[in-house]
Amino acid sequence: MSQLLAGRTIVVMGVANERSIAWGIARSLHRQGAQLIFTYRKERSLEKLTKLLASSGIEAKLVVSCDVSDDSSVVAAFDRIGAEAGVIHGVVHSLAFADKDDLQGEFVDTTREGYRLAQDSSAYSLVAVAREAKKWMTEGGGIVTQTYLGAERVMKNYNVMGVAKAALEASVRYLAEDLGKYGIRVNAVSAGPIRTLAAKGVSGFNDIMTAIEEKAPLRRNVDQEEVGDATMFLLSDLSRGITGEVLHVDSGYHIMG
Ligand code: NDP
Repeated sequence: MSQLLAGRTIVVMGVANERSIAWGIARSLHRQGAQLIFTYRKERSLEKLTKLLASSGIEAKLVVSCDVSDDSSVVAAFDRIGAEAGVIHGVVHSLAFADKDDLQGEFVDTTREGYRLAQDSSAYSLVAVAREAKKWMTEGGGIVTQTYLGAERVMKNYNVMGVAKAALEASVRYLAEDLGKYGIRVNAVSAGPIRTLAAKGVSGFNDIMTAIEEKAPLRRNVDQEEVGDATMFLLSDLSRGITGEVLHVDSGYHIMG
């Protein structure tokens, strides 16, 4: 089969290191011929990304700084991306943030500031990114974000992030309606637990992974490659009839009672 994303330019946001889900996605998009633009926040992430690109032989079209909790940074990043690429065909939003203290104990103790921070970085950021990206998505395309089952159900310790992911999934639906008329599809992948930097912040993460091995239909956890391929599918024409969807890549765990 010919490459599914040949001639497409896709922006990948959220590579912090080799374990990042965004890096699994980037590799999958690269295999299908996409040209990649990366955004990062911390200088440390830029250093890691630069090394990963060199060792993997993936050539980035552009690497640009973007703090999604700052509107001017999002606008500046997409202005640069647009100036460089002209047209973009896809965006991968693979980022989230909450205070570690809010990812343990009881949700009822969440502070106003902790709630605001999680919503702002993890849910509103998709809205800001979609608004800026749309200006350059003149040929249509796809936007895909990463969510988690804690949006739908109470998962121990996930707390404030579960509520942020619920807002993120609702945002996917509202954005899908707004952007559908421009041929832009907006979807989410709901991944099972994967050991990453962000996952380290969630208390009791090992227990969650063990529960999947015991209870999920596939009796194993998923990896970055599997999430990468599903995200690639949602950015490719193979999924051209799908928008506003949350696709679970979790060994089927979400169907279990
Ligand atoms: P990583 O820690 O590897 O990636 C998180 C990324 O978020 C980092 O690149 C970080 O950049 C970025 N980020 C956080 N805040 C901001 C901000 N204000 N501006 C720009 N970038 C920001 O973890 P994952 O790969 O696990 O996380 C990616 C996504 O996948 C998240 O949405 C997460 O909730 C979701 N997910 C993860 C699961 C898991 O088990 N790991 C399961 C289901 C969903 P920097 O470090 O440079 O600040």
